[in-house]
Amino acid sequence: MAKFTPDPVPVYTEEWKKNPDAEMIVFCGREMLLRAQQDKFSFPRAAELDSLNLSTALSIGFRNGTPCFAVEVPSVPDELSDGMRKVEVRLAVGHLDADAFSAGCRAKELLHWRRQHRFCGRCGKELGESPDDVALVCPFCGERFYPQLAPAVIVAVTRGDEILLAHNRKFLPGIHGLIAGFVEAGESIEEAIHREILEETGITVGNIRYLSSQCWPFPNSLMLGFTAEYLSGEAKPDGMELDALGWFRADALPPIPPPGSIARKIIEEFKRKHTKPCREAGQQS
Ligand SMILES: [Zn+2]
Repeated sequence: MAKFTPDPVPVYTEEWKKNPDAEMIVFCGREMLLRAQQDKFSFPRAAELDSLNLSTALSIGFRNGTPCFAVEVPSVPDELSDGMRKVEVRLAVGHLDADAFSAGCRAKELLHWRRQHRFCGRCGKELGESPDDVALVCPFCGERFYPQLAPAVIVAVTRGDEILLAHNRKFLPGIHGLIAGFVEAGESIEEAIHREILEETGITVGNIRYLSSQCWPFPNSLMLGFTAEYLSGEAKPDGMELDALGWFRADALPPIPPPGSIARKIIEEFKRKHTKPCREAGQQS
């Protein structure tokens, strides 16, 4: 199985120029440059990017032994080579293999971190790269800065065979997802779940169970997925983050978030669990 191995000491380098097969993860604003084959996307190779006039790129790791580099460019030429496309990053995530998704997440998060940490937050001097770990180091005061993740909880609240889905104001019209929010400073994950659900919907929940997690590099979230069961209260949107919500059965779901998101996976899991297989409805063969 394909595997992504992170580079333990990511640095900006021109090493990619020595390897025409190196995979290049190229971001341009909200889009990324990808090679498209039907509905599967992959990263372009170094040899295919001559027209971009790149200098250094950030070493982020290896995919099946092939080095991967990440770079941000202000623009890309309108004329791209055959099979290459600019794709919105949020849409691309649903069309990458699991190991390419990992590489893409690391690329996007490390580029974001490097862009936000050019100078020391303590003394203001320009930061340098650490020679032995994923850190930026101040040459003047010695302060070290590491990439930071923002943990967020995302919860499938169920009531019998119904699931609570909501429309967030940031979503496209009609799309309904799960209740989600960031873990606040000082909070446990369980406290964050209870608070977010109560704040946004007015209900209380119990029987919280961990499901799975996913990197979500917009810009640096770690999504922690849970299920919880409805306990009390009348579910109403808070009118701030959420403007609509409702309880839905598996056979009558509204439009849900696109593939690639953990919300989509959790909702599809709910659907599988609550949709009776055909053979149960009819005769078994
Ligand atoms: Zn400093």
